[in-house]
Amino acid sequence: MAVQKSRGLSKLLSGVLCVSLTAFLICFPTTALEAYRSVENDSMKIAITFDDGPHPILTPRILNILDRFHVSATFFMVGVNIENYPETARAVIDAGHEVGNHTYSHTHLERLSREDVEREIWLCEDILEELCEYRPHLFRPPEGAMSTYVENSSEENDYTLILWSLDTRDWENKNTEQIVETVLSKIHPGDIILMHDYIGRHSKTPEALEILLPRLIERGYEPVTVSELLGER
Ligand SMILES: [Zn+2]
Repeated sequence: MAVQKSRGLSKLLSGVLCVSLTAFLICFPTTALEAYRSVENDSMKIAITFDDGPHPILTPRILNILDRFHVSATFFMVGVNIENYPETARAVIDAGHEVGNHTYSHTHLERLSREDVEREIWLCEDILEELCEYRPHLFRPPEGAMSTYVENSSEENDYTLILWSLDTRDWENKNTEQIVETVLSKIHPGDIILMHDYIGRHSKTPEALEILLPRLIERGYEPVTVSELLGER
């Protein structure tokens, strides 16, 4: 009898423990911070992103094209380039586009210590706040290189981690048609498209963007900022 009672008690306790653990996991998920590559949605929203700028020539050209098609985009800027071209960074913000943190020096974060990862994030953030009075909420690690420190530092500093689902590979110096074809053949609603407004060699990005935007709009796609796309979750 005593044995039955104790079995019953242990069953009850394990049941309570199981329910408590489930409730704890729901309230406090232990999984790492999620990095968004795309945001599935029923509308036709997509987000076009430009990395590594600002650039004194390419960024204004891109701003001009976006303005002509009334499209908002997201620019993941590098701190050192903001220091060099603060006027261009301010022009991006003044035009109503979103700006994300892309580290101070565009260093690969994968093998850096926790302190060095945070330093890269904080320096870029401080420069944006000082020179542009802008506080970014999105973080994209250079080349998408992730680590536990990248995830933890992003979370603790209130950043949402953003990667991409469609790489135009414009950094390979492809010709304009190849960039356009890459996007048009792969695009899906919710995609986050990766382009660059700072490329060392001659960039085909502005020309490709000029062809792409009307074609995407014609197909019913609505390019929005990354934060607006995240709102579709
Ligand atoms: Zn980059």
